[in-house]
Amino acid sequence: MADDTSPPPGARLRNRKGPVVTSLPPLVEPAAELTVDEVRRYSRHLIIPDVAMDGQKRLKNARVLCVGAGGLGSPALMYLAAAGVGTLGIVEFDTVDESNLQRQIIHGQSDIGRPKAESAAATIREINPLVNVVIHNTALDNDNVFEIFGQYDLIVDGTDNFATRYLVNDAAVLLGKPYVWGSIYRFDGQASVFWAEHGPCYRCLYPEPPPPGMVPSCAEGGVLGVLCASIGSIQVTEAIKLLTGVGEPLVGRLMVYDALEMTYRSVKVRKDPDCALCGENPTITGLIDYDDFCGAVSAEAQEAADGATITAAELKEMFDAGKEFYLVDVREQAEYEIVRIPGSVLIPKGEILNGSALATLPQDRQIVLHCKSGVRSAEALAALKAAGFKDSVHVQGGVLAWVNTVDPSLPTY
Ligand SMILES: [Zn+2]
Repeated sequence: MADDTSPPPGARLRNRKGPVVTSLPPLVEPAAELTVDEVRRYSRHLIIPDVAMDGQKRLKNARVLCVGAGGLGSPALMYLAAAGVGTLGIVEFDTVDESNLQRQIIHGQSDIGRPKAESAAATIREINPLVNVVIHNTALDNDNVFEIFGQYDLIVDGTDNFATRYLVNDAAVLLGKPYVWGSIYRFDGQASVFWAEHGPCYRCLYPEPPPPGMVPSCAEGGVLGVLCASIGSIQVTEAIKLLTGVGEPLVGRLMVYDALEMTYRSVKVRKDPDCALCGENPTITGLIDYDDFCGAVSAEAQEAADGATITAAELKEMFDAGKEFYLVDVREQAEYEIVRIPGSVLIPKGEILNGSALATLPQDRQIVLHCKSGVRSAEALAALKAAGFKDSVHVQGGVLAWVNTVDPSLPTY
């Protein structure tokens, strides 16, 4: 409930603290004019004094690239389109999967199997046919990132993996372009604007990626679907503010959203003078090998898995041959409830890494580990081998490979 001193909805809060200085000039010059159709369509923007005709003309002239048309990209693209951003680029190589539809609302049931970039473009055209949609149906990589980013004023980062996230940051810093970053996991979200010319970059905040396997992806840990809208809408809000020069951008601040507590906190983020990329003496002056930097699997896990990796088909053969072994699923309880390999025993990875589960493992049989895709089981395998279970192996591709090659009737997630 609002108390008596609260302003009525729509009141300009800034008046209570004196005028807020618009800290950055508009990113985009205004287009020459709006057509009659455009004036009709955008009338609710045009009557906001801070946006008005000038701001809407800037949006019309704006070129915004959204990296990813997934959880964050879905609401971001839809609202950017509705707002009248003149050119919207989509870089996305994936196809629509049924498991995307819980949160990726730009795609629908009939889009399953279709390239996400095409499906997203079709939705955008339906929302606003005045938008020029540019499809980059490719994975962003070192060879194309400068060429693609170079076509846009602003980047919206909707990526879900660390390798691409650092690539986006580094390319944006090297090109001097701002980008709006967002990240989501379960009930938690974060957002910020990174623009090295005016504030910190992503590396100032996170100089190095977390060790492989430490931070689960949404595919492993899950995400509340609607969280995408909460964070995606912050990203679009910031994009519009930057393009039109309205308000105080989220530069040098990190927005932290907790859906369970229903709180938004804004945390100051300072530019790191020692940042390897945007600091005073940068050591990174070009793009690097991001897969290597972020390491899909840690060096220890890779070493443990060498020569100790079996395929799902080989696991099936071991079952069929009546071989004695102990199959351990190192995923989490919730994942185990969705789908499991028959005969597997659930021991979450953490209980193997901290040693608490080691005493429960049989000494007289080979131990076979698996997880969802083979990353976590490789980490657990390294710990098992270090603890003396020398002949243990893990299953390449995990339960996903089992479903794909052995039993397609099982669900995936
Ligand atoms: Zn930096």
